[in-house]
Amino acid sequence: MRRKIVAGNWKMNGTRQIAKDLAVGVSAIVEGLDRSIDVLIAPPSILLADVAGQISSNVNLAAQDVSSFDNGAFTGEVSADMLADFGCGYSIVGHSERRAMFGDTDEVVAAKVAKCLEKSIQPILCVGETLEERETGEMLNVIGRQLHTALKGLDQTRLGKVIVAYEPVWAIGTGKTATPEQTQEVHEFIRKEIAVIDEAVSDVVPVIYGGSVNAGNAKNLFAMADIDGGLVGGASLKLEEFEVICKAI
Ligand code: PGA
Repeated sequence: MRRKIVAGNWKMNGTRQIAKDLAVGVSAIVEGLDRSIDVLIAPPSILLADVAGQISSNVNLAAQDVSSFDNGAFTGEVSADMLADFGCGYSIVGHSERRAMFGDTDEVVAAKVAKCLEKSIQPILCVGETLEERETGEMLNVIGRQLHTALKGLDQTRLGKVIVAYEPVWAIGTGKTATPEQTQEVHEFIRKEIAVIDEAVSDVVPVIYGGSVNAGNAKNLFAMADIDGGLVGGASLKLEEFEVICKAI
């Protein structure tokens, strides 16, 4: 059976105090949840230590990004080695904000996925189309290209550690959510594409959805066969709403 995952992506938000308060709140939420659900939080890297000091052992730490380089002269970067040393078990990779604004090409994303897996960090690989790509019929080509470039050459063990997040760019932070049916269609496609690489692994890789997930739409999204959870941005900063989302799985 595939794991169910709810991951909170705090993006560039918070102060040390806000982060600590949220971490305590999320730990309390997770106390009441079924143990088969993995709850992850991804604070800004400078707040990881504050969050780590507050979370219970049932909450998992994730980074929002990772360097494509090993330790060395790369000012401003945080390496997979550093994240692993810190006890960070997951990292978001290839978020559309990084692809669009910080030059993360498919090749850079692939290098980041590889760095994570070298250090036993589970990459949360984000893929997704823009509105224009959807409207011009390019959606599946784009997602297929993003997936295959990032996963190329991974052996079965490493591929089995990957989490894929389908995040349509037009749904992120916009209040527009893909419908459960639109999402299911893409998740099914993603699973088939993973099966092209490795049939057995395609059944175990969680594919989660991100893009304006909220307390009102989570249940219907998570009810779909191939939607294994959510990558939650804005709503992960509001504890009450995050709790409803976690319980919707
Ligand atoms: P959102 O962000 O929930 O605020 O749309 C999701 C994400 O970017 O991961």
